[in-house]
Amino acid sequence: MLAFLIALALLALPASAQELAPLELRDVGAAYARWLEQHPPDPDHPEPDYHLLEQVHAELGAWVQRRPHAVVPFMAGRTHESRPIWGYVIHDPGHPVTHRVLVFGGIHALEWISSEVALGFALWFAEHPVPGVELVVIPVLNIDGRRLAEKDLLAGENKFRRGNLHRVDLNRDFPVHHEATSFWRHLFRVFHVSSPAPLSQPESQAIDRLAGLGHYDLAASLHSFGGFVYVPWSGNWSRPADWPALHDLAYAMSAGQGAYAYRPLQLSRWGFFFRAQGTELDHLYGTYGIPSVLVEVSRSGLSPFRPRELGSFFRRYNPREPSRHVREGVRLLRAGTLYVAQEPPER
Ligand SMILES: [Zn+2]
Repeated sequence: MLAFLIALALLALPASAQELAPLELRDVGAAYARWLEQHPPDPDHPEPDYHLLEQVHAELGAWVQRRPHAVVPFMAGRTHESRPIWGYVIHDPGHPVTHRVLVFGGIHALEWISSEVALGFALWFAEHPVPGVELVVIPVLNIDGRRLAEKDLLAGENKFRRGNLHRVDLNRDFPVHHEATSFWRHLFRVFHVSSPAPLSQPESQAIDRLAGLGHYDLAASLHSFGGFVYVPWSGNWSRPADWPALHDLAYAMSAGQGAYAYRPLQLSRWGFFFRAQGTELDHLYGTYGIPSVLVEVSRSGLSPFRPRELGSFFRRYNPREPSRHVREGVRLLRAGTLYVAQEPPER
């Protein structure tokens, strides 16, 4: 009888309050420390308000050292050039993990502001962990592409970069809606192109593997620019089955930003002729059932008042002073985290 009552009580608990099984990630402590040692940050570069890759990890590495049980590094995978894709699992060790949030940025090589937001959120979360929530964060996914963009910046070269080492657009390399079916593909080919084959690249494989390791309540992939919180689908005009819940999530995130909030929208409805085939957004939701958003951080760094910069690819994606955009992005992610964790929003 007692066992029956206990079972009944457990069933009555909301599923979200149950403790999650830990992600099975290999301990990389020594390898990570060695990497930090071999890659000291070089703060001298033409965009001092942005972090180079080494600086991103130096900031988080300081937290790993200070609070080794709360901020734990892991390797999500390796790139074509065998560079490690570092991520961090951050939570308050004093509370069992009941919710998990995945955040990743730097999917596209020039969208540095997305990594600034991922870093900003990781640093905020390390300092103010939401009890019961585990944050899994990869500040820069496309390491090889990022390295090339950093080289351009240091050499003063203005080059457009988006893909990885093999110039594959990682955000078109996922299986769900990988092939275009819309009628508009015949007229607007450029909006319906995907990668050679689904999950053909090590960076997209890393995200897929991570998504399959456990339960997530929210996934946010960060891009630039536009000021949007996009929800699935991106590759299909129809509404997803969980449209009301996804809509409410995106609106809660947007509302958490306050002034100049990003606009919630289903990605495929950006324009009647537009689809994005094979996105991480559709894959994370369609394959793993994770409530997912794709955030277009900032509204570009170009301004008609600075005509000399209008041709700059770096500036197109990255505002001159990132701090305000980082704050907006952090507020958005914080609102999403509190929303899925069912915590009352902070004032
Ligand atoms: Zn992007």
